[in-house]
Amino acid sequence: MAAWKILLTDGLEESGQSILRASAEVHDRSGISADELLQEIGDYDALIVRGRTKVTPAVFNAAKRIKVVGRAGVGVDNIDLNAAHNHSVTVVNSPIATTVAVAELTFGLMLSLVREIPRADAALKAGKWIKKELEGTELSGKTLGVIGFGRIGAGVGQRAAAFGMRVIGYDPLIGPADISQRGGEPVSLDVLFSQANVITMHIPLTQDSHNMLNAEAFGKMKHGVLLVCAARGGVIDEEALLAALNSGQVAGAGLDVFATEPPGLNALVSHPRVIVTPHIGAQTVESQGRAAVDISGEVLNALRGDPLRWKVT
Ligand code: NAD
Repeated sequence: MAAWKILLTDGLEESGQSILRASAEVHDRSGISADELLQEIGDYDALIVRGRTKVTPAVFNAAKRIKVVGRAGVGVDNIDLNAAHNHSVTVVNSPIATTVAVAELTFGLMLSLVREIPRADAALKAGKWIKKELEGTELSGKTLGVIGFGRIGAGVGQRAAAFGMRVIGYDPLIGPADISQRGGEPVSLDVLFSQANVITMHIPLTQDSHNMLNAEAFGKMKHGVLLVCAARGGVIDEEALLAALNSGQVAGAGLDVFATEPPGLNALVSHPRVIVTPHIGAQTVESQGRAAVDISGEVLNALRGDPLRWKVT
């Protein structure tokens, strides 16, 4: 019998599970409820989650043996990092596994917005040939404003440059030299708002970034700006976005993430100039495979006390 017991609560690709099974006993309890997690977590040395499971202070209190929590993916806003620190539990993630998938989805949303691809598809499937109504615009020659010039933001910027866009970036935590080195033109947030034809968000949800795009921010943007967000629900004030869409200040939005998920069929989701996807940024075969392999290796490293590549806390 393996020494360590590892709990999976949001599934994990087989490529990762087989790595874990070589060194540990693995229990896949995908879809486990919050109450069941509290009852069961005490038996485990490690927990691996994606975004669904909330790893709350109560979970850490109940997790008497736990040494490491692994997040297959990048965002750790579902894990209480203070509680992890207070209980001396290591948190690791797999930050590079999902970069390409999210950058490509972001681009898909941008192209869908400027060419109205979902509307064209729906019309034709409803038997309507609305060619004359579907005169779009081009990304080439436009300015893309990237908020958060980290891995995904820079990846979107590189793809945008290949499409002939000017790429400006705002990221106060990494500084102008890093933005330039990653292929963007560093600007202040106000300059980004005033110059961008398309704005895309690639920041984590923090106290600072909560509702970062609010009524005041929309007021500073170019009239008719397009907005894409595949970062985290909560970085956009959704009521203010709806008002900005209705006034025409924002011409269209592509949203993969929502303040509440699933959001239901609310006025924003059903808005004719909003394109929505159900938080699928990281949902590719390649990305999930990489995330599973990366997080499995890293969780075993943490259990063994080996050096870590992606320690969050
Ligand atoms: P990253 O850490 O490489 O980059 C994030 C960047 O945001 C950093 O450079 C940081 O300096 C910057 N930043 C932080 N707070 C900021 C602020 N208030 N204003 C401007 N910049 C700020 O992370 P990444 O891998 O590029 O991921 C970015 C975000 O994408 C993640 O935090 C996650 O929330 C989101 N994400 C979404 C999906 C999805 O399925 N849609 C999948 C993966 C990641």
